[in-house]
Amino acid sequence: MSSVEKVVVTVSIDTECDHDSQWVRSNPLAFESITEGLPNRLQPAFESVGAIPTYLLTVEVLENKACVEALKHLDGRYEYGTHLHAAFVEPEKKFYDYAGVDSPDFQCSYAPDIEYQKLRNLTDLFERELGYRPTSFRAGRYGASSESIDSLQRLGYKVDTSVTPHIRWSEPNAVVDFRKAPEQPYFPAEGEIAVAGVYSESRLLEVPVTVKPRLFRDPRWFRPWFATVDQMKEIFRYQLRKHSSQRVLSINMMFHSMEIIEKASPYPQTADEVQRFLDDMQAALQWCADEGASFASLSSLHDLYQPV
Ligand SMILES: [Zn+2]
Repeated sequence: MSSVEKVVVTVSIDTECDHDSQWVRSNPLAFESITEGLPNRLQPAFESVGAIPTYLLTVEVLENKACVEALKHLDGRYEYGTHLHAAFVEPEKKFYDYAGVDSPDFQCSYAPDIEYQKLRNLTDLFERELGYRPTSFRAGRYGASSESIDSLQRLGYKVDTSVTPHIRWSEPNAVVDFRKAPEQPYFPAEGEIAVAGVYSESRLLEVPVTVKPRLFRDPRWFRPWFATVDQMKEIFRYQLRKHSSQRVLSINMMFHSMEIIEKASPYPQTADEVQRFLDDMQAALQWCADEGASFASLSSLHDLYQPV
């Protein structure tokens, strides 16, 4: 017997400058994924199935006038949040020219006060350019810790989506281990990021990226290009089976804005491959809707997970 009353599908998108096939920032720096990708490829695809994407914006996007103009004029239903690549923001900023560079750092490898100030500077930049405070967030390379959660909460964020269950990430200065993290949204315990605690109104909600574990193989993401439409259906069914005692079930698709521009990420390299990406994304989301799921922005999940 399932207690699930509502299945909610969110789409969380790291929204960045164009990259190359090695995940290095384009040189010269280009923003086709914002100026062409959002208005002409992604948003129409989401509108056609009723999905409400959440675009998580990086510092270089918010610093670029043409990008901010495109963002301000984007039609339709969506949310804007923030996404931090810590090497590109003061204090202890490492790069002033972003072209042709990699983004090496986990934000949680900085001292907590430095990390807080980086998050505050990114948040203030968002507010200066778009006129309101963001309330959803994802860490670059998923490099977030319990201190990141506390900083985000101080800055008024309602939802973080940096946690990838079943996966451990490492870089030279830090490790984040989400192998035992809950698969469904939770209010993190004090001093933890990957352990559920008790609800409080001011506590930020963690909305994990939806992945399905596999025996002896890497987990599979609910994500176009990483999974076929049939595999995405199977991941959806797995979550529904495994968490049948919940009232609200969350399915959180993630990818990057650059993935729908050919050669701007390691993934689609041709116009045909971009089309296949978009077709699969739309087909999977339409199937979710046909199964009775509804779509929501990330921040709106915070209220949905209040205990009744
Ligand atoms: Zn990123």
